[in-house]
Amino acid sequence: DLHIDKISKRYGATDVLRDVSLRIAAGEFVTLLGPSGCGKSTLLRIIAGLERADRGHVRAGGRGLDAVAPKDRDLAFVFQSYALYPHLSVYENIAAPLVMRELTSLERLPVIGARMPGAVQRNRSIDDRVRQTSALLKLDALLHRRPAALSGGQRQRVALGRAMVRKPKIFLMDEPLANLDAALRIHTRSEIARLHKEMATTTLFVTHDQAEAAALSDRVAIMFGGEIRQVASPADLYRDPIDLDVARFLAQPF
Ligand code: ATP
Ligand code: MG
Repeated sequence: DLHIDKISKRYGATDVLRDVSLRIAAGEFVTLLGPSGCGKSTLLRIIAGLERADRGHVRAGGRGLDAVAPKDRDLAFVFQSYALYPHLSVYENIAAPLVMRELTSLERLPVIGARMPGAVQRNRSIDDRVRQTSALLKLDALLHRRPAALSGGQRQRVALGRAMVRKPKIFLMDEPLANLDAALRIHTRSEIARLHKEMATTTLFVTHDQAEAAALSDRVAIMFGGEIRQVASPADLYRDPIDLDVARFLAQPF
């Protein structure tokens, strides 16, 4: 599970997050939905440890995360604009998080700079994980390609694969479908739903697309101006919006 407890954050004179609390049960899929600039990405970055909150705490699996380095938090993050290693193949991109874990810091340098050691492909446990993950995401036929030779949707699936390959308990996704065309969005959306089920991860998903939120979520948290206004199942939300802001936001055409 993931507990977000009274998180506040300010940039200069702007309160970007105000006392944000949210509890996500183990295995639950919760979506943060709200207009551009309301603080969704900032909240995710704080949970991932990429940014510090001014006040408040994050707990995962009963453990406080405040003092835990980002790389030691058992969570995976898919960014709004995903960045793949351009010089590595699809296989190597997906293997990268597993490989980094095995290497000393000196050995990591050539991986970032050029190619992964051939030893990786001879490491059975890493090879098994990469092949399972790419099968799940239907990337089997593309493993030898470089990112430049992939479509946007294929790149997005590689980014998902790279995040999933470590089997994280917690999955944070910041608009992972934003760069896809309509057909691919819907395809990748059902892929994400399936992965969430199969891996039983606790997922916090960010979007400003209502259709996406309604299709994927156990519960949706509506954010405005740095605050969570309402948290409810999609059905309850549309039946019973808590105030005019929420009602107006939900009344926008999808
Ligand atoms: P979008 O849907 O457009 O991605 P968002 O809900 O993810 O929006 P955030 O990226 O969390 O919004 O930004 C929230 C507010 O904080 C915005 O007003 C933004 O300009 C501001 N902000 C974000 N990062 C910084 C920063 N490093 N320095 C100053 N202001 C920032
Ligand atoms: Mg954002």
